[in-house]
Amino acid sequence: MHYSEETRATLLEKIQAAMSEKRFQHVLGVEKAALFLAETYGASKEKASVAALTHDYAKERSDEEFKQIIRDYGYDSDLLHWNNAIWHGLLGAELVKQELGITDESILQAIRLHTTGAAQMTLLDKIIYVADYIEPGRDIPGVEKARAIAREDLDEAVAYETKHTLAHLIDIEAPVYPKTIETYNRWVAKKE
Ligand code: GDP
Ligand code: FE
Ligand code: FE
Ligand code: FE
Repeated sequence: MHYSEETRATLLEKIQAAMSEKRFQHVLGVEKAALFLAETYGASKEKASVAALTHDYAKERSDEEFKQIIRDYGYDSDLLHWNNAIWHGLLGAELVKQELGITDESILQAIRLHTTGAAQMTLLDKIIYVADYIEPGRDIPGVEKARAIAREDLDEAVAYETKHTLAHLIDIEAPVYPKTIETYNRWVAKKE
């Protein structure tokens, strides 16, 4: 991948066109946080940048479009019973590949996992998962604590975010996606 100034400008244009100004600002904030984490923990800054910029690329697509993708790509039909929160990363990666021409599997995987996390996460997966939560524009309760932890220990930042996201989902009685539970078991409960 040759990530020139021009590639970046073209990518930014397409991403900006796909979302609201507010979400675009969020995406730029995630890139900032992801670059900081890549520098701190020794990951590829180029991959961190591209994954951050594209992670919410599909978030404004309609439910109908996601349901069509589930059918067309042969995903398990159980996925039809979930919602945008779960679809936009997992299925959004397919749209990032098709429409933005990003084929790097490590970037696509970080996009797929950015909402739920997973029991197995690469450094890049963790960076995008955490950057999404701590980016400068976020004002979730406890975000300052999450930022402080992220500066010291990335795995602990994954655990903090997972615990607080799950607590929030339970609080609002939202359905919890099985992968979110797997993430909790591995990173919070530290089940072997
Ligand atoms: P965003 O796209 O930048 O807003 O952030 P995320 O992609 O991380 O999260 C999108 C939404 O999904 C948030 O409201 C999360 O709380 C929610 N979410 C995360 N995990 C789950 C889950 O297991 N089930 C449900 N229903 N929502 C979840
Ligand atoms: Fe997202
Ligand atoms: Fe997130
Ligand atoms: Fe996001």
